[in-house]
Amino acid sequence: AKAQQRAGFFYFSRSMGVEIRERVRMMHALRSGFQRGELFLAFQPQVDLASGRAFGAEALLRWRTEDGRMIGPDRFIPIAEYSGLIVDIGEWVLRQALAELVRLRAGGHQDFTMSVNVSQVQFRHPHFVDMLRRALDDTGAPAEYVELEITESMAMEEPALLVEKLAQVKRTGVSIAIDDFGTGFSSLSHLQRLQVDRLKIDRTFVTEITGSARGSSIAEMVIQLGRNLGLSVIAEGVEDERQAHILRTLGCPLAQGFLFARPLTPEALLEWLDNQAL
Ligand code: C2E
Ligand code: CA
Ligand code: CA
Ligand code: CA
Repeated sequence: AKAQQRAGFFYFSRSMGVEIRERVRMMHALRSGFQRGELFLAFQPQVDLASGRAFGAEALLRWRTEDGRMIGPDRFIPIAEYSGLIVDIGEWVLRQALAELVRLRAGGHQDFTMSVNVSQVQFRHPHFVDMLRRALDDTGAPAEYVELEITESMAMEEPALLVEKLAQVKRTGVSIAIDDFGTGFSSLSHLQRLQVDRLKIDRTFVTEITGSARGSSIAEMVIQLGRNLGLSVIAEGVEDERQAHILRTLGCPLAQGFLFARPLTPEALLEWLDNQAL
């Protein structure tokens, strides 16, 4: 038994060593890649479901490494968070997104909104609100057209602190959406105390919507919840017309997904918007 234990330990520590080494390697690659300008943003249009017209976009981070490989944010954001790099990267993302919003406005899209993902590591940083204020000032982006997306898992933690921080953020004039809504367990009373503006129905519930009657029950509940609390609701990951149809029937006002547009380069976004205006 002792030998087995030892063998087990050896196996465990070796595989863990590989994993940590891989993580450290990626962290270094990300840090230098960030400095070399390998990160960029893609913008996915968000639309009004009834008319199909775009009212805004979500900024999504992309990483193309030196050798041309694309690494998805699902893989490198956790490493950026783990290493603390997300604080600098997140500030850069925010400034890039705000600058793009200013360019879009100059190009005639005055009512366009920009949604930016904020990691909890970034949000918890003591200077987050100062950083946000400075980014708004420096870029000249109007706060009323800026939305920050925080995940529901974060919305659950340390209620008192979160309520206060969200209140500070709201005072800058930006709005707040709870991302991946339905995947966590926010209680109603908790939700009421948070000064959020929008709930974002997680893609998994949109995918389930065309299955059974039960499949649509979570999406339906979120839409109803939004209505009762006076919050805006957007469905993410809408891929086909059937899903869009059901969401419309359920009274979901807003949507985002491949059915309407993929995440686009700034140039492609402008072209997409101009085509829509025709
Ligand atoms: P998310 O915030 O839930 O973003 C939505 C993801 O769904 C994006 O993946 C988007 O490209 C994808 N998507 C949009 N429409 C569809 C659709 O119709 N079907 C399918 N299958 N997928 C769709 P992406 O860009 O790979 O981002 C993954 C996650 O990485 C994001 O999930 C977000 O949590 C995180 N992320 C991305 N950019 C940033 C960032 O700038 N900062 C932080 N902190 N996190 C980010
Ligand atoms: Ca998001
Ligand atoms: Ca989401
Ligand atoms: Ca998601």
